[in-house]
Amino acid sequence: MAKYIFVTGGVTSSLGKGIIAASLAKLLQARGMRVTIQKFDPYINVDPGTLNPYEHGECYVTEDGAETDLDLGHYERFLNIFTSQSNNVTTGRIYQTVINKEREGAYLGKTVQVVPHITDEIKRRMLLLGQNNEFDIIITEIGGTVGDIESLPFIEALRQLQWELPEEDTVVVHLTLIPYLKAAKELKTKPTQHSVKMLSQEGVHPDIIVCRTEKPLGPELRRKIALFCNVKQEAVIEAADAPTIYEVPLAMMREKLDLICMKKLNITQFNEPDLHRWKEFLDKLKYPKSQVTIGLIGKYIELQDAYKSILEAFVHAGAINECKVQVVNVHSEFITADNVGEKLANLDGLLVAPGFGLRGVEGKVIAVKYARENNLPFFGICLGMQMSVIEYARDILGLKEAHSTEMNPDTPDPVIDLMEEQKNITAKGGTMRLGAYACQIKEGTLAHRAYGKTMISERHRHRWEFNNKYLAKFEEAGMIASGKNPESGLVEIVELPAHPFFIGVQYHPELKSTVENPHPLFVHFIKAAKDYTEQKNAVKNPLLQSEMI
Ligand code: GLN
Repeated sequence: MAKYIFVTGGVTSSLGKGIIAASLAKLLQARGMRVTIQKFDPYINVDPGTLNPYEHGECYVTEDGAETDLDLGHYERFLNIFTSQSNNVTTGRIYQTVINKEREGAYLGKTVQVVPHITDEIKRRMLLLGQNNEFDIIITEIGGTVGDIESLPFIEALRQLQWELPEEDTVVVHLTLIPYLKAAKELKTKPTQHSVKMLSQEGVHPDIIVCRTEKPLGPELRRKIALFCNVKQEAVIEAADAPTIYEVPLAMMREKLDLICMKKLNITQFNEPDLHRWKEFLDKLKYPKSQVTIGLIGKYIELQDAYKSILEAFVHAGAINECKVQVVNVHSEFITADNVGEKLANLDGLLVAPGFGLRGVEGKVIAVKYARENNLPFFGICLGMQMSVIEYARDILGLKEAHSTEMNPDTPDPVIDLMEEQKNITAKGGTMRLGAYACQIKEGTLAHRAYGKTMISERHRHRWEFNNKYLAKFEEAGMIASGKNPESGLVEIVELPAHPFFIGVQYHPELKSTVENPHPLFVHFIKAAKDYTEQKNAVKNPLLQSEMI
């Protein structure tokens, strides 16, 4: 039988519940348990697919094509497992299920209410992943902050589950903030006391309190929190700010978060944690031998979380290359033909990001041209790939008005066009080409060198595609399709064999990069950026180079 760990949050949002949940999961997994994590979000959107990245950051896509919260990305990156549609549930999805059932007549004669109908559906979904003996531990992160109106049904469902399940099958971890008041030179516990009180008023008492803090807690403060929040002193965990999120599992291990959870869950048989691959990765991350600067060209660059998976994939690829990857955000809206040289001058590689709509696309096209003409390593993802096709069409094929019909429906040369199966779709939610699709790679290409195989599977989230009517012209002119969907023939990868590293992919490789399996395209892109810097330095310093030889 699976056991359940619930993670709630108090005082404020953005405390890093996802990272704490993923770190705890990592520790339990390292001790030999089969662990998964799910997230319950209290908003009414059925999924985050229709949300602007400014609202909740990037939309993370799973193998089975679910559009989910970005915390699922952390879960996959930490645990090296796949999550699915069942791992992310929103209030919208809960209500949709209950309302559909009501329309079908499933509750005929009854008044449908938040308690018990909504809470029953929440409970059903909370237990779902534990039904098939696939996992020993299910960690459920409850989004939002305790005390919010919208999280009430989730907390009530949790209260009922705790009452229904055996005592040793559940544990509640509450994450809070211990603010430091500079003027008083003191850490303050009052907000934590209030948030625990609020949770208790809703009927749930935390077993463990994880305290986010800028300064060490000290034994006195731990005692005070334990006393006033009514938990054991060992169950007050310090979660100090860490230089990287990848340090957090080790910090939580030092605080014995995993052991305290296992004690409450009455798990008595477990291994010493095997974290040697994790530690190897951390060592490489902390002590790089070189550095490259990569330009990330996008239109949501004000918000760190908008390109979360791309940034993390750079961390993984940097570590394996023993190279620090400094990412410089460049706003595509402000790139012009006149300033591109200046804006991109100090880069060792250029990544053009995914995106939707017209805003900022011309800047992306200009940036691609710069990378192509200056032999600067280029990596285009989804919209970034589409921009590289448009740039090549305009500049090399001479199709001056070439465009994507997403931005210009009347273009005479729609080199990027709406996919056939998308043409009659009008609804926006969950209707893109989503999730994992196979891709056949041509031998002898850059993609083949990077992946080391000819059949791969990658995740998608788009409506437009390379227009195959133009493929022959592109290939004659030097841009080849090195990867295609074996069934539909959709072009998945384009590259320029004459360029040292120029690749565009219609899919999202960043979604499959993990600590233990850095993505091969990111790894090779960083390698190419390293080569580019070395050559740049050799040109600047020919004497030094010849001495070294
Ligand atoms: N807007 C483009 C499309 O839908 C690209 C999408 C993306 O970058 N994820 O095809």
